[in-house]
Amino acid sequence: MPEGHTIHRAARLQRRRFAGAVLQVDSPQGRFDAGARMLDGRELLGVDALGKHLFHRWEGDVSVHIHLGLFGKFKVFTDVGRAPAPSDGVRMRWRGDVGVMYLSGPTACEIIDPDAEEALRARIGPDPLAVRNGDADRVVTTLARRRAPIAQLLLDQAVVAGIGNVYRAEFCFLAGIDPRRPANEVSSDDALALWEMSIRLMTIGERIGRIVTVDPAEVGAAKPGDLVRGDRLYVYKRAGQPCRRCATPVRSAMLASRRVWWCPTCQPG
Ligand SMILES: [Zn+2]
Repeated sequence: MPEGHTIHRAARLQRRRFAGAVLQVDSPQGRFDAGARMLDGRELLGVDALGKHLFHRWEGDVSVHIHLGLFGKFKVFTDVGRAPAPSDGVRMRWRGDVGVMYLSGPTACEIIDPDAEEALRARIGPDPLAVRNGDADRVVTTLARRRAPIAQLLLDQAVVAGIGNVYRAEFCFLAGIDPRRPANEVSSDDALALWEMSIRLMTIGERIGRIVTVDPAEVGAAKPGDLVRGDRLYVYKRAGQPCRRCATPVRSAMLASRRVWWCPTCQPG
């Protein structure tokens, strides 16, 4: 599933290319026919994101809510004449002078009214890529009250929004915390460190379009974008391989039906 950095990056790139354009909108698949007819010929005013949710703002005060879920994908073609024909799975298509976009496989693609959007936003926790006043306190306070494993809560979108299975494993490693440790046994300093590293590392992920958590200096690179695939992460999907810092074999286990990875030496319980 795409993590929050992917959604925020898509929002930024769509905004840059399409905001201000009048677009032809349709639904080759047919499942967004009514919505597409309503949007067709309007100007796209803006695009924003919160956690794993993305919102398109259209002329006439119309908003569309997108959640990609497990399989959703945006594809943008900047050369209008060379965009391939849409597959049967394209839920929403945009066409304009500035480009063509296909959205396929989303969990949600719907016109959303202001009340429904407000209710949705109220269920979403602090987003490291859309920080508001008081967010750090909210995260620290919430974690201190909960007994569930810290790594389980890092995936709970109501606790903190946008973190997925890759980042949660990496953040626990960097904070030196066993992912199974109850959240209320994580110190407030460590909880704050988790929040601050999520801002720092997800901002890098949004900028370069992939997840990199390894400090470039540790592998002799100048910047995160230079790291090759096998060097970008400390523990995610590295079970049995030596920890990059202490050589202890990385462990993995299921935690609330999602797999998590950690170094038993660097991340004491
Ligand atoms: Zn280690």
